[in-house]
Amino acid sequence: MDLDVAVVGASLGGLSAANVLHRLGARVVVFECFCHGFHNRGGALGAVDVDLVRKIRGDVTGHRRPIKGHGHFYGDLWQYLYEGLPEGVVQFGVDVQEILDSSSDSPQLLIGDDTRRFDLIVGADGGRSTVRKYVTDQLPTYAGYTVWRGLVPMAGIDGPPSGSTTIRGVQYATLGFPCAGPPGAGDLWNCGVYMLMPVTEIEAPSRNRQVKSGMKSVPDWFVPFIRRFFGDWNAKFWQQCSDQGKVSPHPVWEFAADRVVANRIVLLGDAAHMASPRTGAGAYTAMCDSVVLGEALQKEETLGGALRRYNSSTVKRGKQLYQRSRAAAMSFAPPDCVPVSPLTLLEDALGHKLEDPPKVDSSREGKQSPVGFLARVISGPPCSSKD
Ligand SMILES: Cc1cc2nc3c(=O)[nH]c(=O)nc-3n(C[C@H](O)[C@H](O)[C@H](O)COP(=O)(O)OP(=O)(O)OC[C@H]3O[C@@H](n4cnc5c(N)ncnc54)[C@H](O)[C@@H]3O)c2cc1C
Repeated sequence: MDLDVAVVGASLGGLSAANVLHRLGARVVVFECFCHGFHNRGGALGAVDVDLVRKIRGDVTGHRRPIKGHGHFYGDLWQYLYEGLPEGVVQFGVDVQEILDSSSDSPQLLIGDDTRRFDLIVGADGGRSTVRKYVTDQLPTYAGYTVWRGLVPMAGIDGPPSGSTTIRGVQYATLGFPCAGPPGAGDLWNCGVYMLMPVTEIEAPSRNRQVKSGMKSVPDWFVPFIRRFFGDWNAKFWQQCSDQGKVSPHPVWEFAADRVVANRIVLLGDAAHMASPRTGAGAYTAMCDSVVLGEALQKEETLGGALRRYNSSTVKRGKQLYQRSRAAAMSFAPPDCVPVSPLTLLEDALGHKLEDPPKVDSSREGKQSPVGFLARVISGPPCSSKD
């Protein structure tokens, strides 16, 4: 296939697309704004379709650890896809800023002061996509609730947390499951708290959905909130997770683009559609997009025809995913609920202000040191964080 392709973003969507296109004979280059790979980072993917992964890269044996169906560590899958590409295909530390000649048959990427022409540009640059605006004016919307995700080595920690309660018609839930950690770090508890949170208390979509630095300290209300609504046992777990692991808020963003192709620019993965982690299918759908793109290129005689086929399948699948995400939101942020801050909820339940709350701090002396990988995760990437 005589095509020069740029893929923007080297997470699961971008690497999947690059693998598929490379194996079809295209000349592919992947640009990633972080200056390192993600083999030691990220949390668990609840479910991985092993057959799909095999389709993207080939045989799943011979990897540092076998790709399995459930409780899979993001970094393992990332590494597996990365190893499917020749050296030099992925260029780290390249922040794509702009596309020039976006409506031509050979759009250019602006990278620093340089421009480069391509036959096809694939925007696999996640929820905060730079490429999206060349395809659609639509933007992700906040679903009204946030998942506080915790990752902590399992050794010595009684888990996973478990509990659900309904407050003012809204469901709050904590749950978790074991998953593999980075090599040498042992298994992890991968846990979450689903919590209604007003839009004024959350952050915009991050650059890489799975890779977020943990908070230096969780908010003062966090563990008391868990204690009040989920009991002492769960509070103890989250206290330990905060002290010895990583806790980070993931606001739930939702999106389903009406179009994912404009001329020679294509959206894929979270750039094209975003859904609640509750669907367990965001990364899965990004990988499906890559396979569909490859099949369209093989089935159609022209690039235009292939992109039209890709557009129609991806828009349809994106809307189906969005509907599943909306269904999940009916429990955690129903349309008629009043967005209330967890702190307000806690203080109302306690009947007083949270006076001189005990500081919950994961970064101070006197606490048990996180294992090596968690120290890296908590201190963020070695170059400046783009998150
Ligand atoms: C808590 C949580 C749990 C989840 N659990 C699951 C699960 O169990 N199963 C599942 O299938 N999905 C799950 N997901 C969803 C999944 O993480 C995402 O859907 C998936 O990561 C999307 O992949 P992506 O490659 O499209 O985007 P991302 O993973 O967001 O990656 C985008 C990449 O593009 C790069 N980038 C951005 N802008 C630029 C630029 N201008 N120049 C160069 N590079 C750029 C970023 O650095 C990043 O590496 C979960 C998400 C969350 C938050």
